[in-house]
Amino acid sequence: MSACPVCGGKTAAAALPGLLTCADCGLTYSTEKHMPVPVYAPGLEQDIYVSAKTKLFKTALDWLDSALPGRGRLLDLGCAGGELLRAAAARGWRGEGVEIDARLADLAAGSGCAVHRRPVEECGLDGGACEAVTAFEVFSQMAAPAAAAAEIFRLLKPGGAVYMREFNAGFHLALLRLQRGGLFKFLGLRPAVLHDFNFTPRSLRALLEGAGFREVRISNSPPTSGDPYRTGGRLGGFSTGLLKFLYYNLAQALWFLSSGRVYAGSSLIVTARK
Ligand SMILES: [Zn+2]
Repeated sequence: MSACPVCGGKTAAAALPGLLTCADCGLTYSTEKHMPVPVYAPGLEQDIYVSAKTKLFKTALDWLDSALPGRGRLLDLGCAGGELLRAAAARGWRGEGVEIDARLADLAAGSGCAVHRRPVEECGLDGGACEAVTAFEVFSQMAAPAAAAAEIFRLLKPGGAVYMREFNAGFHLALLRLQRGGLFKFLGLRPAVLHDFNFTPRSLRALLEGAGFREVRISNSPPTSGDPYRTGGRLGGFSTGLLKFLYYNLAQALWFLSSGRVYAGSSLIVTARK
């Protein structure tokens, strides 16, 4: 038995080897830490960090523009090549990035924004100096998510906002079980995505409320466009994209029918205010 790194609750071995699940918040985390930075096959990065996310970045910035019409300083955690920073700058935000991969950090610095190259809690940035923080699929791969959440709370001004996208652990663990059972084999599918930290809606809420945030709101995220991770096998980009779109609508229907209790989406959007 060990303590959950997000809520401090009791954890027990999950049904899958090398994973523990918190009985209180549902966080499922690996017992051995993996590589801090994902490495994708050549050619995939453009899809993963740019094309597939353009619409999601637009939705995030639309939300931040309306939450914080005065704009200000926006810190993007795991900014990759700086695509979100460029889109934010075009809307009048002063963007800054955090990126621990040196090559991606160089690309992001080409946008003219400052880029910090250490985990956010080690950057020594001034407290109370940011209006907004964004983080797309970053907390799942951090060494210390709770420390990072506490740090972004410190960095934000009162009233500042955080906008996050994270993989939904419930969805991906269910897929992984089906995948291990051979269900997707004939199509060459490998749709499950698991990282060091796999969040549920409850564990995301525990993470942010534990750091002091209020107005924590969670929703199913629309999918990325096409098949950026090439997990769709023989289905190809178009069919995979269509399946993801149909599934998202099914997840939304379940959410409405369950009065907002069931989140079946493959990823979640979380917003909160300081
Ligand atoms: Zn927990």
